[in-house]
Amino acid sequence: MNAIRVSTRKRRRKRLHRLTVLVLLVAVAATVSFWPGSRGDGLPALEASYPPPSTPSPAAMPKVVVEAAPEEPDHIIAYTIAPGDTLGAIFDRFDLGHAVMYKILRADEPLALETLRPGNRLTFTLDPQTRLLEEMELFIHAGNRVIYRNIDGSGFDFEELILPGEWEQEVLSGEINGSFYISAKRAGLSEGETAQVSTLLGERLNFAREIRAGDRFQIIRMQQFVNGEPTGQTRIEGVRILRGNRVHSAFLADDGNYYDHNGESLLRAFQRYPTARQFRVSSAFNPARRHPITGRVSPHNGVDFAMPIGTPVLSIGDGVVTRVQNHPYAGKYIEIQHGANYVTRYLHLDRFLVKRGQTVSRGQRIALSGNTGRSTGPHLHFELHVRGRPVNPLRADIPLAASIPKEQRDSFTKRVAEYVALMEAPDQRLAMGRSSQSDSARSLH
Ligand SMILES: [Zn+2]
Repeated sequence: MNAIRVSTRKRRRKRLHRLTVLVLLVAVAATVSFWPGSRGDGLPALEASYPPPSTPSPAAMPKVVVEAAPEEPDHIIAYTIAPGDTLGAIFDRFDLGHAVMYKILRADEPLALETLRPGNRLTFTLDPQTRLLEEMELFIHAGNRVIYRNIDGSGFDFEELILPGEWEQEVLSGEINGSFYISAKRAGLSEGETAQVSTLLGERLNFAREIRAGDRFQIIRMQQFVNGEPTGQTRIEGVRILRGNRVHSAFLADDGNYYDHNGESLLRAFQRYPTARQFRVSSAFNPARRHPITGRVSPHNGVDFAMPIGTPVLSIGDGVVTRVQNHPYAGKYIEIQHGANYVTRYLHLDRFLVKRGQTVSRGQRIALSGNTGRSTGPHLHFELHVRGRPVNPLRADIPLAASIPKEQRDSFTKRVAEYVALMEAPDQRLAMGRSSQSDSARSLH
């Protein structure tokens, strides 16, 4: 039974994909979303997802013009999210009922439905007899899906599928002619990546004033593919901006942070705890936590600290407030983006002390802790996401110091040397030893 369902879905995806590309093309200009790891501008390469139709043989020409797509069973509804859509409107459109929607929202611990992104796909699977919603899948990209399943009519649980895929490496380089933004775009960088580079080197270099025509830039970028399909996820591993005899650089180290070629941090350090003093952990980070009713894996994506209502909650690093919201499960919560790779979330708050869009600094009071949303007692649920993936905030490698940790220095220095060689001679293939796809490095001028 499962196998049949899977193959049906695959066919549906292929067919849907053409529609999705069209919707994406229309939507991409209007898409503005703060989403960890997803830059919204990573449009899949057209040639990969838009194969040219095969030419029918002359004999078949008069009869077969278009191959009929397999019919969709009517208990499965597939929908590509359009700009301006709300979950309520989508549920109305397919007559799914708001009561069911609220059950799903209560189960949405990853908060994946909080920001609907145009181009993402929703698939609803109904019971063929009762027409009740059995399952809803949110397809974010080929490497990331969230599935909400009905548990015996009592509510929903969720499963988040994150696939690592393969990462391909490329070197993008060019000369400044006009602004850095225009020059980088010409070399093939997306708007999001250009912004990331400006942010990475922003404390060292004023892009508007100090960059001159004739300065050069070199960027090493990784692109994610899952089953040959580009997911739109990219990662910048190295940047150099050469201004006369001055070099500004940023390289990604094993700890997930960027340092200059001397190993000095480009990002100001984080503090480990979101409070001035440490509180008791009442529930640990646990990606393998079991749902008490179903026994299914239901991850605890953060760590809970028991603390009295009204305890000041502090941002663990410099950043920008991307969400200040109220949610049936999370209660009053805040999300903060720290540079390109880190996001923190603070849940069940009592009072907000910051606004959306506000810049905050490490240690700044952002809220007072509370007991709002689905919460069994006063506590703070704190999450740390690194490149779109929740990690244990108490153990994660985050920059707590200003330069690269001693034990990583040798491997970092070696990597910088390899990257610089690749940047200087992008046509030369080097064994980078990091990606299975490393020999796919190519130059795009
Ligand atoms: Zn929690």
